[in-house]
Amino acid sequence: MGIITIDGPAGSGKSTISKLVAKELGLSFLDTGAMYRALTLIAMNEGLDLEDSAKIKELFDKTELKFIPKDDTTLVEINGVDCSDLIRSQRVTANVRFIASSPLLRASLVELQRQFAKEQGSIVTEGRDQGTVVFPDAQVKIYLNADVDQRAIRRFKELQARGEKCDLQEIKDAIIARDFSDENREVGSLKKADDAIEIDTSAMSIEDVVSVILQIVRE
Ligand code: C5P
Repeated sequence: MGIITIDGPAGSGKSTISKLVAKELGLSFLDTGAMYRALTLIAMNEGLDLEDSAKIKELFDKTELKFIPKDDTTLVEINGVDCSDLIRSQRVTANVRFIASSPLLRASLVELQRQFAKEQGSIVTEGRDQGTVVFPDAQVKIYLNADVDQRAIRRFKELQARGEKCDLQEIKDAIIARDFSDENREVGSLKKADDAIEIDTSAMSIEDVVSVILQIVRE
C-alpha cells in the first residue's frame, strides 16, 4: 500500500482520523506529535534550557523511548515510565515549539520516523511535515483543516475528558499561537504539500472524514 500522510494544524482531527484510517486499512500508525511532545517532557523533567538543542540531543540519545499503539491512542514510555497523559498536558503543549523549531532535534526525529516506515513497509503517519519533508514520495497525502473555533472546542473537550482544568478562550489563544509558530518556523513548517488533498473537517463527522479518506486511498 505504501505511505499515507495526514498533516494539519492542532485540533483538525488528525490523530483520531489517522488512527481510524490505519485500523480500517490494517496498517501501523505513527503519531509524530507524540515524539515532539516526549522530547519536550524529557528536557523539562531534567530542567534543561529548552533552547539548548545540543544538550537536549545528548539526553535524548541516552533515553529509552517507546511508542506503543493501544486502542485509540499511542502510549508513550520514557525510561519505562508511562507518560502518555503528561506529554499531552497544557504545560508540555506550551513548550513544544522550542523542540519543534530546532533543526538538530527535528533531524533526529525525522530519522526515527523514516526508520519506522522502513520497518513497517506501509503506514499512516500524522503530523505537520509528513507530506512535505519526511515522506515527499508518499502515495496518498491528506491535509486536514478546520476553523479555529471548532478546533478549540475539540481540544477543550479532549482536555476535559482527561480531567484537566481548562478554559475555552485560553485554549483558543494557545491554538492561534501554536498555528503561528508551526507555520512560521524555518524547518518542517506546517503547510499543505502541493500534491496533498485538503479536507475541511469543521462541519464533518469523524466517520465522514474517514470514509472520504478511504475513498481517496482506494481510488
Ligand atoms: O499533533 P500534536 O498537537 O501532538 O503536535 C504537538 C506539536 O509538535 C505541534 O504543535 C508541532 O509544533 C510539533 N510537531 C511538529 N512536527 C510534527 C508533529 C508535531 O513540529 N510532524
